[in-house]
Amino acid sequence: MACINNCVIAQGTPIAYLNYALIAAIALSAIALIFFHRKISMKWNLLLKAVLLTSIFSFLITLYISSGGHDGGVFNAAHTIILFLILVFFATSYIFTPFIAQIGLRRHVDKKIERMLSEEAAKLGIKAPGLYLFEDANKSAFVVSALRKTIFISTGMIENFGNDEIRIVLMHELLHLKSGFFSAKRFLHSIRAGFFGLLPVQLEELDTIEEMRLDNELMREGLDIKKIRSKL
Ligand SMILES: [Zn+2]
Repeated sequence: MACINNCVIAQGTPIAYLNYALIAAIALSAIALIFFHRKISMKWNLLLKAVLLTSIFSFLITLYISSGGHDGGVFNAAHTIILFLILVFFATSYIFTPFIAQIGLRRHVDKKIERMLSEEAAKLGIKAPGLYLFEDANKSAFVVSALRKTIFISTGMIENFGNDEIRIVLMHELLHLKSGFFSAKRFLHSIRAGFFGLLPVQLEELDTIEEMRLDNELMREGLDIKKIRSKL
């Protein structure tokens, strides 16, 4: 209680109001998400999640700044440590995810696929991301965006898919990178990673909706994405 009193309320006016605003933003976005998440549009959903996660994040930072005012003890130490860990995990996830994803994988090099990737990136008018082919019998492909954007594809997929199909897979992954949505999601995922995944915010449904949107985009161009999905 002493901590709440000191850090949240008994501050200079600007910080106190900022704290009230943040608490209100956390409460309102949480309530809206709990009660309406099935009824609201995708855009609103993403916006509310962004508001919720960033206000929790900011609230911890103002708490940290304002905690200097009272003699610390356990509370002070605890929230300094928590804030530090959250920042470290957030930064690690935001910056280093592609490097973390590579741990334990064996790299495989294929010049032909690298060439296809730069051709497709040029067609979309975006900078070609890194390509990391890895040895794994399972068929998988995904893209990770951080300091360096990287597309990961397993050798299982390369062996089972023809050139044309690999090209569609590459296009799909590149479309992820091209969408602004993906950057917003990357930020949210990193904040959630910062909280060790403990925040009860579901981001998976956003992923599913994005997958469907990209597939539709490819199908409009006459590409047979269904056939590829069925082989996965
Ligand atoms: Zn995808």
